[in-house]
Amino acid sequence: MNKTIGIFGGGQLGRMMAQAALPLNIQCTFFEANTDCPSSAMGQVISSQTEQGLQQFIDSADVFSLEFENTPLTDVDILTQSKQLHPPRQALATAQNRLLEKALFDQLAIPVAPYRAVDSLESLKQAVVDLGLPIVLKTATGGYDGKGQFVLRSEDQIDTAWAELGPAKSLIAESFVKFSREVSIIAVRGQNGDVKTWALAENHHHNGILSHSIVPAPNSADLQPMAQDYITRLLNHLNYVGVLTLELFVTEQGLYANEMAPRVHNSGHWSIEGAVCSQFENHIRAVAGLPLGSTEVVRPTVMINIIGQHPKTEDVLALDGAHLHLYNKTERQGRKLGHITLMPVDAAQLTVLCRQLASILPEPLALTQDMSI
Ligand code: AMP
Repeated sequence: MNKTIGIFGGGQLGRMMAQAALPLNIQCTFFEANTDCPSSAMGQVISSQTEQGLQQFIDSADVFSLEFENTPLTDVDILTQSKQLHPPRQALATAQNRLLEKALFDQLAIPVAPYRAVDSLESLKQAVVDLGLPIVLKTATGGYDGKGQFVLRSEDQIDTAWAELGPAKSLIAESFVKFSREVSIIAVRGQNGDVKTWALAENHHHNGILSHSIVPAPNSADLQPMAQDYITRLLNHLNYVGVLTLELFVTEQGLYANEMAPRVHNSGHWSIEGAVCSQFENHIRAVAGLPLGSTEVVRPTVMINIIGQHPKTEDVLALDGAHLHLYNKTERQGRKLGHITLMPVDAAQLTVLCRQLASILPEPLALTQDMSI
């Protein structure tokens, strides 16, 4: 079984997918404009983003997947005339538009914050009346890592918010959720309909970017079955194949879905060392039509992103039990350059490791003092 999987995108997610594919004798190719991308170390990059380039990519593999959420649907439509894509087009189209995403959550009775579609200044004013303040105004398409968002706290900000985001034409206004923490659930569905779910990750952000994830999310025993139920509804409804991520808010009323990502996710990087089978390996298995592996946690894990500047490799590796993953990217403010996995034996060791890590990372890191596992 010498399959080749073609992947839309060539970032670190593709790199880690291909790393997981290699021991299974599965090769990957990538459709990505930048020939120097993180995935380029792992397989052929088809960089020409033309009709001919797309055809070359289609010819380069047996079955297809993606690591880039904004993969153009027009490319997908050409591809699916002759080859199969996992996950399905509907999952991708839905995840690319927050209004479609929220409508699907509603349809499947997955709780979300009250929201309104906004496409004019009048409809924004009406949304403020309907939802009350504060609200989070977001572009329906194209936003990521908190970009394309405006938190509207008072009525005198309405014109400014509209001036900033209005040109995007299609917006969503959401009630501001008073959450105690943010978590994500990641699951995989195989071609035979088998579903496996990893433990909830508790996610912490810094300047709108994921800073670190703790798995299993502390005190999440009651939340896990509910999150698992929600993501399974999505996977089965979409007849999904591959890994899907659902980001959730923890509130006093229970879990609220924020958004889904039809791909492997930064909050699942812990699973490379922390789970029996990682999100990357299970995604490859699903796309290749192979049996899924166990998603059991091997040991509680903390994953910390390296953002903007590299720490010294020898400093990180000197930490007891630390694993370092670098993506071969050049330094730039706010850019994800790699991640570190810690697998402390207990809460006391975690506190020590986090303190040591905070002192060697160039970017100030919001590692909380009372991190428990
Ligand atoms: P998103 O791009 O939708 O993932 O939003 C980025 C971040 O903004 C989230 O991780 C939350 O911290 C925050 N956020 C998004 N939507 C809401 C909301 N409705 N209420 C409160 N905070 C939100």
